Amino acid sequence: SQEAQANIGVVGLAVMGSNLARNLASREGNTVAIFNRSYEKTQTLLDEHPEAGFLPAASYREFADTLQKPRTAIIMVQAGKGTDAVIDALVEVFEPGDIIVDGGNALFTDTIRREKAVRETGINFVGAGISGGEEGALNGPSIMPGGSDESWVTLGPILKSIAAVAEGEPCVTHVGHDGAGHFVKMIHNGIEYADMQLIAEAYDLIRRGTGKSPAEIADIFAEWNRGELESYLIEITAEVLRQVDAETGAPLVDVILDQAGSKGTGVWTVQTSLDLGIPVSGIAEAVFARSLSSKPAQRAAARSLPGPDEGLVVADADAFIEDVRQALYASKIIAYSQGFDAIVAGAEQYGWDIKKGDIAAIWRGGCIIRAQFLNRITEAYAADPGLVALVTAPYFADAVARTQQAWRRVVVAAAQAGIPSPAFSSSLAYYDGLRADRLPAALVQGQRDFFGAHTYKRVDRDGTFHTLWSGDR
Ligand code: NAP
Repeated sequence: SQEAQANIGVVGLAVMGSNLARNLASREGNTVAIFNRSYEKTQTLLDEHPEAGFLPAASYREFADTLQKPRTAIIMVQAGKGTDAVIDALVEVFEPGDIIVDGGNALFTDTIRREKAVRETGINFVGAGISGGEEGALNGPSIMPGGSDESWVTLGPILKSIAAVAEGEPCVTHVGHDGAGHFVKMIHNGIEYADMQLIAEAYDLIRRGTGKSPAEIADIFAEWNRGELESYLIEITAEVLRQVDAETGAPLVDVILDQAGSKGTGVWTVQTSLDLGIPVSGIAEAVFARSLSSKPAQRAAARSLPGPDEGLVVADADAFIEDVRQALYASKIIAYSQGFDAIVAGAEQYGWDIKKGDIAAIWRGGCIIRAQFLNRITEAYAADPGLVALVTAPYFADAVARTQQAWRRVVVAAAQAGIPSPAFSSSLAYYDGLRADRLPAALVQGQRDFFGAHTYKRVDRDGTFHTLWSGDR
């Protein structure tokens, strides 16, 4: 067996793992042990990147022998069964004090389970959300590690060395214990879903309202990317809209089948938020919009159903585009506000001490939702750590006050023209619900008491009440 020379190891050398291993190897002071279940991927990586100085292992035992103690290994394999198989194998060859990091997209409840089981062997287990895809893994992702304080001491400097850097700070922080990192990564992905859907709705409204071509709309997004909407997703939207199909010469966006796929993290976010009782309506609508798009039989059957007589009539294209921009900004604030509500609720439910401002800060670089805007979130939580709803922080409250009239005009126009804008309109409904003096929830309580004697509370005195309704027979 080899001499223990590597300070870090990577298990799983598919797209993500091989790029992460190269990122690690490129940093001063790192020697990286690599292992993959089938040796071909290990050999390919060795052949293609001799400069990395990888130390290959042909077995889990050899992998363990190659690592200095305490051993630290990052797993980047297929989430689910693959991850469990690798953990079981590593637990066999590692020793108490060693650290196993799962960098895959694990469901946070799996991470909580795995952490508990691995901890019993004395080995540390860290679930770390890693965002940024292939490019991020290679050049610097945003990293959201959970796990024990003890493992963070060893792991922190390594992860800081490979993370993206935003305004001089590495995009990694110890999020909280056990599943906290994967939980926050899940919410990140949920917010990403909402952000993408909002951008798609903005594009659709502008296109149908003004007749502008995708290339012209690309210019609009490029312009927006210089203002308060500046973000990676706005930037790539311009690129996608500008793309021409090599085969047909048509805008590529018109050639792509309009059925959006997903890998499930959006669904997890919504399921988890439902359980926590948090209305992440923007994220939910984004997930539902993808589901609806992927029902070709239903869509074909419904195509002949009537819509309004008139489509979208826009008198002043520039004014409409500005309204859409403002509606997008306001809705985006709601999506983030809801996402952070879910983080607060998750932290409370699972006992994690999550610093909201630090989460916004580590999302500024490396990940899909990276944006200028996140600085404002960090500032809002720095000014008031107990902030009850992000949208009520002065900066965001001002932004919504300034944009809400345009937001309403856009939602009205979309509804009248029969253009679906589920994320724009549900965000507005949420906003109006949140700021309402009185909600018709009072009537719902009355109904519940009527049919189920579920009782209600009164506005004018303490206690629990039940009415003897005429229906009580
Ligand atoms: P993947 O296609 O999800 O998984 C392939 C890798 O898993 C291969 O190395 C494979 O080994 C290994 N594997 C599968 N079952 C195994 C088992 N039972 N024992 C040992 N190894 C096993 O790879 P990926 O696309 O690189 O993704 C890796 C992880 O990163 C996943 O959790 C994925 O969800 C996550 N991911 C994240 C992002 C992001 O942006 N953060 C993007 C993509 C993926 P063999 O070569 O032997 O088959």
